Order: sequence, then structure tokens, then C-alpha cells
Amino acid sequence: MSPSQFLATQPLFSSSHKPWGNVSPKQWNDWHWQLSNRLNTWEELAQIVDLTPEEIQGLTAKNKFRVDITPYFATLIDPDDPDCPIRRQVIPLGRELFAFEGMQADSLAEDEHSPIPGLVHRYPDRVLMLVTTHCASYCRYCTRSRLVGDFQQTFRKPDLERQLEYIRQTPQIRDVLLSGGDPLTLSPILLDYILSRLREIEHLEIVRIGTRVPVFLPQRITDELCTMLQKYHPLWINIHVNHPKEITPELSAALGKLADAGIPLGNQSVLLAGINDRLDIQKELLCKLVKNRVRPYYLYQCDLVKGAGHFRTKVAKGMEIMEGLRGHLSGYAIPTYVIDAPGGGGKIPVMPQYLISQGTNKVILRNYEGYITTYHEPDNYDPDAIDRAQPPSSVRSEIGQEGVSGLLQGEGETIKPRGFDRVHYRRKVKKKRS
Ligand SMILES: *Cc1c(COP(=O)(O)O)cnc(C)c1O
Repeated sequence: MSPSQFLATQPLFSSSHKPWGNVSPKQWNDWHWQLSNRLNTWEELAQIVDLTPEEIQGLTAKNKFRVDITPYFATLIDPDDPDCPIRRQVIPLGRELFAFEGMQADSLAEDEHSPIPGLVHRYPDRVLMLVTTHCASYCRYCTRSRLVGDFQQTFRKPDLERQLEYIRQTPQIRDVLLSGGDPLTLSPILLDYILSRLREIEHLEIVRIGTRVPVFLPQRITDELCTMLQKYHPLWINIHVNHPKEITPELSAALGKLADAGIPLGNQSVLLAGINDRLDIQKELLCKLVKNRVRPYYLYQCDLVKGAGHFRTKVAKGMEIMEGLRGHLSGYAIPTYVIDAPGGGGKIPVMPQYLISQGTNKVILRNYEGYITTYHEPDNYDPDAIDRAQPPSSVRSEIGQEGVSGLLQGEGETIKPRGFDRVHYRRKVKKKRS
């Protein structure tokens, strides 16, 4: 049957007809049930959403990034609004298959930074540990769509053991960030195992989990899960909410449990065209997060990844939004806007300029209202007094990664692009004049 023939035979999105049939509240609140009843075909989705031809095109495309939507998250979709911000995050459009200038499969060059499959060691003191390629539902703009949703590529016990061994052998790692895929989709036993192995490593100070499970599958945040996570403090969690409509009573309850378990919560969101690229939406989102004890952490510029072309905004839009936040909202509600640099450059913060000018002992600043003021700098500041008072440790922990801070510390004079010296050495070598 063709999609249009099928649609003609369907009683579309009637409240009595759902692809998951009759379900008791007990089943609905069971995360196993939610996971095993996820929607992934256009035939199922057509029963709860008035699909557009372009959505059907996206859903029937052969090489598309995986589709899976929990029944819970699917019920947040406005069935009649093709621009529904929930819907646009999880139902593919035909245009997601289009290539665009600058598009890359691995736009953050994570694979190059992987000493062990699944372990990304980009920064001096912390690593990203990919523990699974599964998620509760799949975001269309996924930065890791090259492996996420591909169950052939998932990480198994031997991979995890090798990742753990690398962390054990690398004492500069203080912070491990569990991600994937979504770590909270792992079996409770395996997650407990990974966390306990990590906690045994003495040089590890904190463990973080990056997860969208509270958003897609709040039923997973059970008391037992919180009790388990609590054993591994200091443990931090970053969630991923993009739009105020995602903050439902179910999500609020899940966040309350996690916060009550003593887990500091952060949020990472992505600036998405047509979804949350307006100041009032961002303000509502950020304030609601703080109300739920979630500290906005990063606002990401959308990556140059396949499938995400139509979600990208101008960087200027992000700047305009940041300009509208600082000073207007409590500082707690303001994320850092970052561009995760293509080619593996890492996260680069961008924000409006508040320092207008500088003289020998004055700094000229402007505030969010446009008020311009002078900060007088001290005439007799002694930057070495601290070293006399508290002798510095001589440990260098960032060999090769000191960067611009290294220049300031006197670890060199310049940072040059590859080939710089060759290009600039044009002067013919003359014999020294005597
Ligand atoms: C984002 C990221 C981290 C964590 O960075 P923070 O700025 O500390 O949150 C670590 N490793 C990789 C590869 C990352 O992309």
C-alpha cells in the first residue's frame, strides 16, 4: 500500500485509536513498556500525527538516521501543527537527506581523538566515554549520527573494559563524561557496573552523565535508579531540553527526584531554527529549567553534521539571544553559548563584547543597557605577591595543550599554523658579515 492509500484508510489521530492500543496507567509508567512500544514507522506515526508529505518522505527514506519515539514523547506532539517544536526534533523531514556546504559525518573529529573505541580524549583533564549507541528517542540533528542508532556499532563489555583501563592508566583524567547514545538506556546492572568501576579509580574526581532520558522517558527516573546513582557521588547529570514544551509535569517530577538524590543538574541545548531561535522562547525555557533546579550549562550552535542542515541558524542569532539574556535574567539562568569547532577544535564560547576599550589604567565597559562606564585599575598591583605568599606547584599537566594560556605563562612566544615557518622563510641565507 502506498502512503497516500494507507492514509486514506486510517481514522487519523482519533483519541481512541493509538498505535499502542489500550494501555493501563501502570504499563504507561513502566519504562520498559515505553521503550518496547516506541514509534518508528510512518504507519504508526500517521495514527497520532497528521503527517505532511515531506515527513512521509523522511520516514520512508532508505538511509535515514534511526527513528524511534517513545509513546510519552509522541503524545507531546501537536498532531495538527507541522511546525510543532517537539515534532520537528524527532520526526524526520525529506530535507534532512540534503547535503550542505561544510557538512561532515564526524564534524567534531571525535574519531581522531579516540585512543580506544568509544573513548574521546580531547581535553587535558577529562574524557568522553561513549557507553552505548542506543537512545530512548533520536534527535534529528544528532551530532553523533554516524554511530548513534546503529546497534551494530554499540559498545560491548570488552570495549568498556578497554575504556576503563585507559582511564585507569591516565592519571591526568579527573572527570569522565558518560555519553553515547544515552547511558541511562543501559541495563541498570551494566550502568551500576561501569559507575562502580569508575569510582574505584583514585584519580577520578567527578563522573558526569549526559542524558536525554528524563526528557524522552521520564518513567526511567525511578527511585531505584536514584538510589543506585547516589552511591557514586560526586555525580553530575546534564540533560538536554530545547523547548519549554518539553518541561512537563512528568519531566519536573523526574528532575525533582534526581535533584533530591543530590545530583547537580545542568542542561545542554542546541539552537535550532524554527524551534527555539527566538529570545522569548529561550527565556521561558531557561527560567523553567532553573525553577526545576537545572542550571543551564551550554547553548550549542548546531553542528555541521549530516541531517542538521535545516536546523542551523546564523551565529548572529545566538549572539542576539545572548545579548537579550545577560542582565535581563538571573545569572543562574544564562548558559554559555558555544560553537563546537569543526575539525576537533572543541567548544569555543562566543558572546557579545562588553569590554569597549582599554587604556593604561582604565577599562571601559558597557552593560546590557548600553550604559558605558570606567573601571579604574590599581596602580600598584603586584602579580607576583601570590607566589611569595603561596609557592606555586611545579606540576605541568597539559603538555602540548597549554594553548593561549601557555603564551601568557611564558611557555613560548607564538602559536603557528603548520607550514608557517616554511612559507615565511623567504630570505636567502647570506653568509654572516664579519
Ligand atoms: C564537551 C566535551 C567534553 C566536556 O567539556 P566541558 O566543557 O568540560 O563540559 C569533554 N570531551 C569532549 C570530547 C567533549 O566534546
